[in-house]
Amino acid sequence: MTKSDRIIVIGAGPVGLCLSLALAQEGVEVCLIEALGDDNILEQVPRAGTNHPATLEMLDRIGLYEKLEPRGIVAPLLHYWERSDNQRIAEFDHRHLKDDTRFPYVLQCERIKIVEEALALARAHPLIDVRLSTTFTGFAQTADCVSAHVTDPAGEPETITGAYLVSGEGARSIVRRDLGIEFEGFTYSDRTLNIEVAYDFRRHGYTERNYISDPDEWSNLFHWKGPPDRWRVHFPTAPEDEPEDLQRPEALQARLQGFLPKQGGYDIVGSNLYTVHQRVATRFRIGRAILAGDSAHVNSPIGAMGMNSGIHDAINLADKLIKILRKEVGDEVLDRYERQRRHVALQHTQAETIRNKRVLAEKDPAVRRKNHEQLRRTAEDPKLARAFLLRSSLIESLREAAQIA
Ligand SMILES: Cc1cc2nc3c(=O)[nH]c(=O)nc-3n(C[C@H](O)[C@H](O)[C@H](O)COP(=O)(O)OP(=O)(O)OC[C@H]3O[C@@H](n4cnc5c(N)ncnc54)[C@H](O)[C@@H]3O)c2cc1C
Repeated sequence: MTKSDRIIVIGAGPVGLCLSLALAQEGVEVCLIEALGDDNILEQVPRAGTNHPATLEMLDRIGLYEKLEPRGIVAPLLHYWERSDNQRIAEFDHRHLKDDTRFPYVLQCERIKIVEEALALARAHPLIDVRLSTTFTGFAQTADCVSAHVTDPAGEPETITGAYLVSGEGARSIVRRDLGIEFEGFTYSDRTLNIEVAYDFRRHGYTERNYISDPDEWSNLFHWKGPPDRWRVHFPTAPEDEPEDLQRPEALQARLQGFLPKQGGYDIVGSNLYTVHQRVATRFRIGRAILAGDSAHVNSPIGAMGMNSGIHDAINLADKLIKILRKEVGDEVLDRYERQRRHVALQHTQAETIRNKRVLAEKDPAVRRKNHEQLRRTAEDPKLARAFLLRSSLIESLREAAQIA
């Protein structure tokens, strides 16, 4: 391969990093551009963290799994709870997937740990030119190559040329904007409040991942490895609520006490608010510029599918770019990438996450009862439970994508 075969990857998030590693490990030269620097890349707000079985197989392939497992929590169980009477509705066990995957569990390991470990591997790889504190500002493409315009750490403009440009920039992708690609979908009017607590909820019967159903105050409750261990609790807010009011210490305490009363109060270690979008780009590729991860699709975290499906984009794309650069296939396979991964984004991640929120927040008591009964029956029947988990863990999405020509 020659210098002009280089792939320019924008964004050292989980998607850009996994893509860079998968490419470099097969002999492809990568230039990885990241606006954040050594001083702040590990200081980002908490986001993703649940890694599904199929993603673990991919992380294993690129040498990341063995780094992440000791820093995470192996979690085979998933719970649904009803908040009003604090009763468990259903328990799903990923061990039903033992014949479908080498990893019949999720790994609770936060995005920032993935970034830290993947960045260390990328920096150590001779084929990856990692450029931190370098901001991507725009690009141009011809029939033969693509040029990325960046501002280097000294504030100087620079142009980097390569064969393809991949936007792993996240939801505010400049590449998507400059290509004039629509980001179709909607944004929920209410924001979600995330509270991080040092308290072991397992003593009340919860497991590492819990979805709590309530018509007014549904929640997600997740366990993360420390030290000290933390639990994240998500709550809905009203569109008119002021961010400062929501995040006052006494307001955070009241939320948690409303969820599960605790004498002496909770040890709150952090909080933040986030806006939830459900959007998919109308194109994932135009010419030599390609979208992957959040730059191509964003969704609610209920179901833990954003980062996971982004990493699935990265591995799918890496396999195609490697073959293109080896001249084994033409670059029309990138249109197949678009067909496969847009299908997954629309029919799996969007459909599932929208449905997940609707089920948790359902207001009609009769529909709630029906939904909960269905969850209970599904969890108790091994065949139905396996089918449910194949879908919720995105294994089904990969099998379907593989059938798309
Ligand atoms: C509260 C919350 C919980 C979540 N939980 C889960 C979960 O459990 N499981 C799951 O699968 N998903 C989850 N998600 C979604 C997940 O965080 C995202 O889907 C994932 O981070 C997307 O990865 P990415 O690499 O595409 O983009 P990002 O993680 O957004 O990374 C983009 C990178 O590009 C860099 N960048 C941006 N612009 C430029 C530029 N102009 N120049 C250079 N660099 C640039 C950014 O600094 C950043 O490092 C959650 C999201 C939220 C908000």
